[in-house]
Amino acid sequence: MRNPVVAVLAALLALSGSARADNFPSHPITVIVPFSAGGPSDAMMRILAERMKVTLGEAILVENVTGAGGSLGVGRTVRSPPDGYTIGFGHLGTNVANGAIYKLGYDLVADLDPVVLLPSNPMIIVSKNAVPAKSLGELLAWLKARPTPATAGTAGAGSGSHIAGLYFENVTGIKLQYVPYRGTAPALNDLVAGQIDLIVDQTSNSINQVRAGTIRGYAVTDAKRVEQASDIPTTDEAGLPGFHMTLWSGLWVPKDTPKDIIAKLNAAAVDALNDRAVRKQLESLGLQMPATDQLTPEALGAWQRAEIAKWWPMIKAANVKVE
Ligand code: ASP
Repeated sequence: MRNPVVAVLAALLALSGSARADNFPSHPITVIVPFSAGGPSDAMMRILAERMKVTLGEAILVENVTGAGGSLGVGRTVRSPPDGYTIGFGHLGTNVANGAIYKLGYDLVADLDPVVLLPSNPMIIVSKNAVPAKSLGELLAWLKARPTPATAGTAGAGSGSHIAGLYFENVTGIKLQYVPYRGTAPALNDLVAGQIDLIVDQTSNSINQVRAGTIRGYAVTDAKRVEQASDIPTTDEAGLPGFHMTLWSGLWVPKDTPKDIIAKLNAAAVDALNDRAVRKQLESLGLQMPATDQLTPEALGAWQRAEIAKWWPMIKAANVKVE
């Protein structure tokens, strides 16, 4: 039989939990973005946060906690109080790949509760303008003919740009020399300046520079072209059939955050995703909205576990060394 003292304590805890949820939020919320300001994760989160605060009635402050492929920022979320006032932005890299690369000290599934799936986008293979290639075929030939590997910017081991690079090496047999940054915003700056050769980047990060002609875009890693950069062929069209990768994102909270608080955060994010002006802003960056039935916390949890099963074998086989 259950100990009566424990039962009373549990009832009191449940009561205080729902009381907390009733007036949640009563002060600003922090969302931890694990990459640099101005990058694709940061840009998407800031657009959503502006609209989420309308539903929640409190400000959402973005804090960029960067380094180690985003694993430091996710660690900060894991160690925060489970009260809804700290949310973690994450993606295929931080909340899937990093578990196969780093000794994290936390479990990506057991130590976080999912809130909502966020938009995704394909990657785009981009190079500095000085690379003498005008098509993906010419780029592959140039890369193969080099005596030393070309330099590829990433947002650190396990980031989206790094996994996309590993996947590119895997399908082409070409070796790359990775240059890690704290986000793809600084990597892109160096690409425009000609300091590195290429990035297998998130489309939303590179699209404006490709359009402006300051870097060259060769192919998007999807079955269909990105409407906002419709002159860039797909990898299928450009000569790497089947090289598809979509970088999806999501929000998580520390495990044991009360369910009704998670529901409020989820509802605010769903409102933001359904807002016409927000959709327009995100779609102009080439981002794709998640399907409506994918917007529950449970759907994100199931999706994350399926992605772990899909990506960990390839990432583990790549035997990535981290300091
Ligand atoms: N999403 C990261 C960023 O915002 C980049 C990456 O994962 O490659 O910089």
